[in-house]
Amino acid sequence: MATNLPSIAVVASSRAVISGRLTSATVVISLTTGKITAVFDSVIPASEFPVNTPYTDYSPHVLLPGLVDAHVHLNEPGRTEWEGFYTGTQAAAFGGVTTVIDMPLNAIPPTTTVNGLKEKIQAAQGKCWVDVGFYGGIIPGNAGELKALVQEGVRGFKGFLIDSGVDEFPAVGREDIKKVMAELADEPTTLMFHAEMVPPITASVGDEVQTSDAPADPAGPLEAYATFLASRPSSFETCAIESILSLAHLAPNLPLHIVHLSAMEAIPLLREARANGVKITAETCFHYLSLAAEEVRDGDTRHKCCPPIRSKLNQDSLWEELEKHTGDGVIKTVVSDHSPCTPDLKMLPAHVPGHCTGGKEEESGNFFSAWGGISSVGLGLPILWTDLSRRKGLTSSPEDENTKNALQDVVRLCCANTAAQVGLQSHKGDLVVGFDADICVFDDSAEWTVEPSTMLFRNKCSPYQGRTLRGMVRETWLRGERIFSRDQGFHSQSPHGKLLLEKRV
Ligand SMILES: [Zn+2]
Repeated sequence: MATNLPSIAVVASSRAVISGRLTSATVVISLTTGKITAVFDSVIPASEFPVNTPYTDYSPHVLLPGLVDAHVHLNEPGRTEWEGFYTGTQAAAFGGVTTVIDMPLNAIPPTTTVNGLKEKIQAAQGKCWVDVGFYGGIIPGNAGELKALVQEGVRGFKGFLIDSGVDEFPAVGREDIKKVMAELADEPTTLMFHAEMVPPITASVGDEVQTSDAPADPAGPLEAYATFLASRPSSFETCAIESILSLAHLAPNLPLHIVHLSAMEAIPLLREARANGVKITAETCFHYLSLAAEEVRDGDTRHKCCPPIRSKLNQDSLWEELEKHTGDGVIKTVVSDHSPCTPDLKMLPAHVPGHCTGGKEEESGNFFSAWGGISSVGLGLPILWTDLSRRKGLTSSPEDENTKNALQDVVRLCCANTAAQVGLQSHKGDLVVGFDADICVFDDSAEWTVEPSTMLFRNKCSPYQGRTLRGMVRETWLRGERIFSRDQGFHSQSPHGKLLLEKRV
């Protein structure tokens, strides 16, 4: 007897973002390959498809491509108590993120050698709820590993110009970067930098010193956010970016990328370099667009990250760059930089949610001793939508032109451009024929409050706890399979995420 299992599934909505445009759409998915096989620009009724076809019309919720979060620290193996593949990717799926790219540091070993990558791959087997790719790291002395890492499928490379916070991932200097650029000059990859650097002493003497921020020891109480902010001035970012730009000519074909840009002062530098033909882009993070220094209470180290969250004015400037320069801007992507740790390392004082006993009480609330990193994987879309709603006065009306543009912007910044940054643009980041059926079903008007039960990452410690966000991910589909719904949770017992190890082309 022939089995009569459906071979396709169909999702439709009066609102979907397809090829960057908001439209009504019907998306046909092969259940054999998990790929999209047809897209129509109207809602086609279920009666037009074979009787046993799984069919859902999600109107008026919005069909978005699954988000590609190109900056996540999963920390496994080695610091699995901070985060892990299982919990980190569950948190991603909760928020409509169907691809995460894992950063090369904070796991032990770091992903700075082929063997390190192999340990990661081993540790990730069977634990990923969404698709996972890996970056490689550049550290002093590992230039000889880089070409092999490209062959093994890393999505790009990242290095630091300042202390990374962990001993096994030291910063690179100019001579190291020169070697790296020589190795990677014509490879299909992206070279990325944590762009903070203590300005060299020679740059701090002379007339400049009167107007520039000099590197400073803490000048104030260590629990005061202002003291921490003053210790990581914008000049750390601009100095690092100038240093990178001064080497860019060594590898003119190699795309360069600044991770987690915070300082508005860096934008003109990057704009000018791009105008001169330098292949450089930047990303910013959900937290720089939603949190501001003025609002951080003393001792609330949940807000510590590097580079730091800066002023309200700085936040407005980042938004201005995103909104005024949709095509030619320097900030191409928005990512989480999810970088968790165990609660004791955050050294939270007792009155801050996420506090745990067992930390060093005498250092509680100390911004300088606390681990730097913000947890938000899977919260990014609602965080961005909440701020977009406030800034643009979005309404729930389907005719609202601002809402339409904002949805398109979100897809550009968090799906299409992040996929392109990591070389996945041929099958991730859009809802078109031939692409993976990775879908985020987004309810753009629902409001909800972040609480431990909605933070699926391992350690429930985030500055977003207690915040009411606008926009809720109703369902997440991964390669044609509905993996998560807000009402019913995870649909299968075991994770079906894939490791993305195909070499970039
Ligand atoms: Zn990071």
